[in-house]
This record gives sequence, structure tokens and C-alpha cells, in this order.
Amino acid sequence: MKINCISVWQLDLPLHKPYYLSGGRLKFECLDSTIVRIDTDEGISGWGEGCPWGVTYLPAFGKGIRAGIDELAPLLIGRDPRLTDSINRSMDLALPGHPYVKSAIDIACWDIAGKSANLPICELLGGREPDPVPIASSISTGSPQEMLDEVQRFRDLGYRVHSCKVGANVAMDIKRINLLSDDEREGETMFYDVNRAWLPYEAITVMNAVSGISSWFEQPCETLDEIAQVRRQTSHPICIDEALRDYNDLVRIQSEGIAELVNIKINRVGGLTRARQIRDFCLQTGIAMLIMDTGGSVLADTSCAHLAQTIPQPSCPGVWSCQEMVAVDTAPGQGARNIEGCFSAPELPGLGVEPDLAILGDPVVVYR
Ligand code: MG
Repeated sequence: MKINCISVWQLDLPLHKPYYLSGGRLKFECLDSTIVRIDTDEGISGWGEGCPWGVTYLPAFGKGIRAGIDELAPLLIGRDPRLTDSINRSMDLALPGHPYVKSAIDIACWDIAGKSANLPICELLGGREPDPVPIASSISTGSPQEMLDEVQRFRDLGYRVHSCKVGANVAMDIKRINLLSDDEREGETMFYDVNRAWLPYEAITVMNAVSGISSWFEQPCETLDEIAQVRRQTSHPICIDEALRDYNDLVRIQSEGIAELVNIKINRVGGLTRARQIRDFCLQTGIAMLIMDTGGSVLADTSCAHLAQTIPQPSCPGVWSCQEMVAVDTAPGQGARNIEGCFSAPELPGLGVEPDLAILGDPVVVYR
């Protein structure tokens, strides 16, 4: 089997309402998504999506994905897309770094491998676990009451896990966390995601002021060095998100005991092939995993659902449904959808999602 065509679409995904991170420091209103279709000489096609959360969240942006694909696509024509490790090595040789550029291509290759084997991607990734995976809400930073209202809105949609975005100022964050924690219902998990907004002294102050709450804090500070410093002076479990960029970061997180959880963002680490390696290390070392993407439509969500579906509970406390927050549905009725606050990976071969071409419009570029 050989790749004979790679088509690339650009799609704006407006958010239903403005979204604030890092205590309101970062505002987001529209995402720039890149959707890739890889066609083969055997008539099997695969789809993937790469969508950074705006341009300010990570060193990644939509135009960068398409510029990177422009370098990579000509080199992939003629290659067997089912050989995902080999495809990734070739991409890394041709364009070192830039993992976020490669994830849509990698996911499309896994889609083809699944369709070719007549298996869903989760089965190719090692096998489906029986339980559906809880979806974590994403609660934009706001006043305590606004955040309580938003938690309730997601609760009404069936969500039992809530990722509450904090990181404004110390006094306000202590107030927010105490109020949200008091509102936690039986069977719910509420955790606090700082998106690297605190300096170490702020993290230590807030986390020690709320030492009685039983939850974890995600990415309290910018760097692993800073978070290691916070770790030594606080008692809560810690989750690393943005600072987990590659396998070497993970080895450090584990060997230095910096965190008990990691958030594996498939676009950030470069696709399912890389995310699978991180999953395996975490399973072997007792690190729990949230499996999310950096943004996107149901295509991106569904690739996360496939990986998350392979992780036994309680090692995967949450996935994320970005589709819930954007106003465009690229594949109505298909893929991973919220069912009572959980995702299950589709039973169809491959990714199990085919975008609606009428919604995508014309590709911005086609490589043959
Ligand atoms: Mg996070």
C-alpha cells in the first residue's frame, strides 16, 4: 500500500463563547483547525486533525501546521502509511522538532492502518478496555459564581469530572477553589488547572491554603524546575500538562517524582504514535493520564477516545470533548460523542469518522 495523495483543509472553529485561561490572561474566540486526508493506491483513505488552542497557548499555531505539512507531504508520497513508526522517523528526519505539525498526518496513517486491518484504532493500539472514559469539562476562568454556574451547566450534560481553570491572583484563587470544592457532589472529581500561570511562591501559597481539599493541581507553573520546587513544599498530587512535550520530559517527571498524573495532548506530543509510547511508560510506572487534544472538532476528540479507551481504569481519569465548545460539527452524528458524561471509541474500523465534505469545502492544497 502506498500514499498517492495528501489533501489539506483549513477550517475556522468559532467557540460558542469567549474562553479564558491562566486567570483570564489568555482569551480565545476561534480555533484554526487543519484537517488532513491521506489517500492510498488501494482506495483506502485516512483522516486526521491538528488544532492548536489558538496561537498563545503553546508554541504551535494553525498556519505552522500547514507550513510544516508543506515540507513533509511530498516526502510521504509513495510510503506505506501503515508503518507508523517508520513514517514518524522519516518525518523527524525531514523536519526535526515541530511535533504538532505531524499529528494530523500520524492520525490519518492510523486511520488507514485500522481500516486496512478492519479494526478500530483502539484495538490496534493494544485493545479496548471495557469501561467508557469520563469526559472532563473545561471551566473557563471567571468569578466564583460564573465558574459554579458553568460547572452546573456541564453537570446537566452528564459530566462528573471538572477541570476548573484558575491562576489569577492568590486571594481570588483560594476563594474560587474553596467555593468550587464545597460544591463538589458525591461521585464527582474536581481538579484545578493553572495553565502555568503561578510563580512558585503563588502556587505554594494557594496550595497550602487549600491543603484540606482532596484533588490535584495541573501545571501550576511554567517549567518542570518550578513545579519540582512547588512539589517539595506542598502536599497535593500534581499533573503535568504543557511541560510534557516529549518522552524525555516524561522520564524526568517520573525519575524525579515531580508528578503523579500527566495530561497527554495528542497534538502537542506529535500524534498517536508518540502518545502511545508515553502511555506505555505511564502504565509501567503508575502515572495516571488524562488524554486530550489541544483543540479541534470530533475528529480530534475521537483520536483521543481511541487512545483513552485502551487505558485500564483508574489510570485514565478523563478525556476532553472540545466539540462541545466549538460551533462547527465536521462529522454530524459520527465519532466519539458525550454519552452520560463519557466517551467510547467507535466500533468502526480505523478512526470511525468521515468528515462531511460539504462542511469542509475545498482543500487549501493537494499533494500528489
Ligand atoms: Mg491543562
